[in-house]
Amino acid sequence: MSFRSLTFKLILAFLIVSLAGAGLSALLARWANGRAFDSLVLDQAQAAFISEVSAYYEATGAWQGVARVILQRHPAPGRVPAGGRGAPPGEAELATSSFSFVLLDQNRDVIVPASGYRLGVHVPAGGPAKETAVEIGGQTVGAVFATGQPLTLDPGQALYVARTDQALLYAALIGIGIALVLGGLLARTLVRPLAELTAASRALARGELGQQVAIRSSDELGELADSFNQMSAGLAQASELRRQMTADIAHELRSPLTVITGYLEGLRDGVLKPSPARFEVMYGEAQQLQRLVEDLRTLSLADAGELPLNRQSVPAGSMLEQVAAAFAHRAELAGVALGVDPSATGAGIDLLVDPERMLQVLANLTNNALRYTPAGGRISLAALREPGAALREPSAVLLQVQDSGEGIPPEVLPHIFDRFYRGDPARSAAGGESGLGLAIARSIVEAHGGAVSASSAGSGLGSTFTVRLPV
Ligand code: ADP
Repeated sequence: MSFRSLTFKLILAFLIVSLAGAGLSALLARWANGRAFDSLVLDQAQAAFISEVSAYYEATGAWQGVARVILQRHPAPGRVPAGGRGAPPGEAELATSSFSFVLLDQNRDVIVPASGYRLGVHVPAGGPAKETAVEIGGQTVGAVFATGQPLTLDPGQALYVARTDQALLYAALIGIGIALVLGGLLARTLVRPLAELTAASRALARGELGQQVAIRSSDELGELADSFNQMSAGLAQASELRRQMTADIAHELRSPLTVITGYLEGLRDGVLKPSPARFEVMYGEAQQLQRLVEDLRTLSLADAGELPLNRQSVPAGSMLEQVAAAFAHRAELAGVALGVDPSATGAGIDLLVDPERMLQVLANLTNNALRYTPAGGRISLAALREPGAALREPSAVLLQVQDSGEGIPPEVLPHIFDRFYRGDPARSAAGGESGLGLAIARSIVEAHGGAVSASSAGSGLGSTFTVRLPV
């Protein structure tokens, strides 16, 4: 455990807090207890003193000689009278003593001296000390007051004080011990998840993706662990996507390059004779490569949020007409009826879009529809306001490409917008299918703030692709 570790700091903090708490409460308890005990002892000693002098007065009927008797019974501690231990006090002790109580007679003259009050001195009434009258048979014969001199405790009392001090010390030590154990436990519960997180993020930094840590609590540390897990899973997923994407790109580049290289080798070695048909094949493959590169560029721009959009106001109807016209010839060759839906021509609807990009989206969708619709089928293009949107003023416009083709199986539907995804892997790039068409359509629509979706009633029942653009 280093001096800079959290465990050390926490235990130190607990130690300081418990030391301060225990020390302060021990001092307070000692002080309060000591005061109460002192005044109790003083009261008791004073009562004993009064009853002693009263007994003397009752026995002799006067105060004569009381000092000698009292001081002989209670010699000052550590002071041996001139006549030896147990001898009556000498004149010096009689004149003054270190006794804690003063006895005055009726004339307020000192008859039992104590420190500061010599024998025979007159003490005027109304002094600061609290006096107690000595009464014999209903008559006041004297007064007693404490000098404020600290009492010497008898062995029993001294033992009580020592025991109390000891108990307070033990209580403080136990308190500190508990605080240390608690501090250690808390430090452990805090430090363990943190250490796990540190180890996991170090492993992540070393490139070991997919790190997960245990979530041990539902507090802030638990939240931290949870968000770390999410981040780690996200990183692993992104890395897997990137890896997959690179593999897909390599795969897509390979077949056109193989064809071109094969032809070029044959021509170079004289095995093949140059002919317009052979150049046409090579040109087609080169174009395929060019399209792929262009598609990847569009996707990466869209990913970075940097797809330049040249937004203009365009009538939706004219966009549909342009697409229909562009594909009319191919549709005719394929024996498919292609046209704008007469009930949703988009008349009166203007779109604020980049016309070139949006035409690319519609062309991709129409291209797919043509590809998956057999002869005798029908493709209709439509533009309409979102149904039910008339109430809410800022509404959306829907552009739809609907075909009566082979449809999309439900298990395929969730993936068709993924990059390089082909519903039927057997269909190759030879047909101009890169598996990027829908991914690009989605990127462009999303760059416009819209969304694109697909629905299909099932195999053989046609598909509908819908672009939703907020107005
Ligand atoms: P591709 O270049 O393979 O057409 P796309 O991204 O355009 O790639 O489409 C992905 C997949 O979605 C296709 O392989 C196909 O399975 C499915 N799909 C797209 N459009 C249609 C459609 N109109 N009818 C049926 N399936 C479709």
